[in-house]
Amino acid sequence: MFIDTHTHLFFKNFDEDRYEVIKNALAAGVKYMIVPGTDIETSRQAIELADKYESVYAAVGVHPHDTKDWDDNLIDELRKLAKHKKVVAIGEIGLDYFYDFSPKDIQQKAFDKQIQLALELNLPIVIHNRDSNDDIMEFARKYKDTPLKAQYHCFAGTVENARELVEMGHFISFTGNITFKKADSIREVLSKVSVENILLETDSPFLTPVPFRGKRNEPKHIPIIAQIVAETHHLRVEDVARTTSWNAYKLFGIGKKMNLSHTYQIGESLYVNVTNRCNADCVFCDRKGEAVINGYSLKMSRAEEPEAETYISEIGDPAKYKEIVFCGYGEPTIRWEVVKEIAKYVKENGGKTRMNSNGHGNFINKRDITPELNGLIDSVSISLNSTSAEQYAKLMRVDETLHAEMIDFAKRAKRFTKIVMSIVGLSSVDTENAKQFVTNEIGVDFREREYF
Ligand code: SF4
Ligand SMILES: [Zn+2]
Ligand SMILES: [Zn+2]
Repeated sequence: MFIDTHTHLFFKNFDEDRYEVIKNALAAGVKYMIVPGTDIETSRQAIELADKYESVYAAVGVHPHDTKDWDDNLIDELRKLAKHKKVVAIGEIGLDYFYDFSPKDIQQKAFDKQIQLALELNLPIVIHNRDSNDDIMEFARKYKDTPLKAQYHCFAGTVENARELVEMGHFISFTGNITFKKADSIREVLSKVSVENILLETDSPFLTPVPFRGKRNEPKHIPIIAQIVAETHHLRVEDVARTTSWNAYKLFGIGKKMNLSHTYQIGESLYVNVTNRCNADCVFCDRKGEAVINGYSLKMSRAEEPEAETYISEIGDPAKYKEIVFCGYGEPTIRWEVVKEIAKYVKENGGKTRMNSNGHGNFINKRDITPELNGLIDSVSISLNSTSAEQYAKLMRVDETLHAEMIDFAKRAKRFTKIVMSIVGLSSVDTENAKQFVTNEIGVDFREREYF
């Protein structure tokens, strides 16, 4: 299932066959479409479409092109329109210094007022940006400490901008322009942003993707965009569909939450969610929150934790996958006996195994479990988090002694399996430091996470 988060279906050139266009979108797997207005009149039309078609939702707002006659009273009109139950955002709004149809100061004022309306109504915003990067980023920073969440539609910023926006919890949205020949810079951004922060949109009738350029764009072309995202991130199209649909659910409340997954496939690997429990409580971990990875819900109470047979039957033929990875929002060694039973099955049936761990397995099991890795777990990925015990303890909200515990685990385990240690989100200096530490002090492989 896909969601086209930005399509101007009210455009005149859909008048002849709008129903067909929506039907073709549904047939292509595009289950929902969000139609953003660009002024009061088209916002009304977007709502009319939402009323008429179950799969259509609306956003209401005044586009920067249409702000030259801006009047603060328009906010009252928008507020009334936004109360409609199928209005899911304020948009599209923003800045456009390329066409400059409206004076910059008026564009900024209209943008600001509409952001405040979104905050008042607790709605996300849909942002248009053309040649106005610096000011768009200033607005993002201004509202950084508010609950405001945004879709940066047809993203036009830099990798650094994207990183900053993702850190603020916003979504980066890609259109058919990622298929264009001259779109290297935007494809570069795409390669750096995790799919968990991406939305898909056509911006139809504009920005028709290759190979249909020159023709009218339609929501049915979303799978073409998803295909590029999938290739860029070495994922399957269905991974992109599921993850971006979940993102749209999170931002706009469209669609529904997934059921709990015991095993879940991303790319060519199958992941095994053995537990949601952990001895740590990392500041960056969503274990106690939604616990969703790439659109899969991993939230599981202790009572819901299945036995090994359930996992084994879901795995089926393990040789079908690149690897079977023990990884969820929890520490797998907490259920070490179950992990071993599943791993034994996988190894006996020609599969490969990997375990993502915090390296506290000996502490948790109150004995040295590392010899038991032998022949069962082909590799263990351990998050180093920090080379300093003090910082480690703060990040993971654990006792400082667990830093040495984790290092000891890695040193012991490397005799029985391949160990890879990784670190995320640090400066290049710290990364170099961590690399030296891991390769020289611990004597195992180091991997740097490539995207944010
Ligand atoms: S060790 Fe892993 S599962 Fe446990 S809290 Fe930290 S990130 Fe989450
Ligand atoms: Zn736009
Ligand atoms: Zn648009």
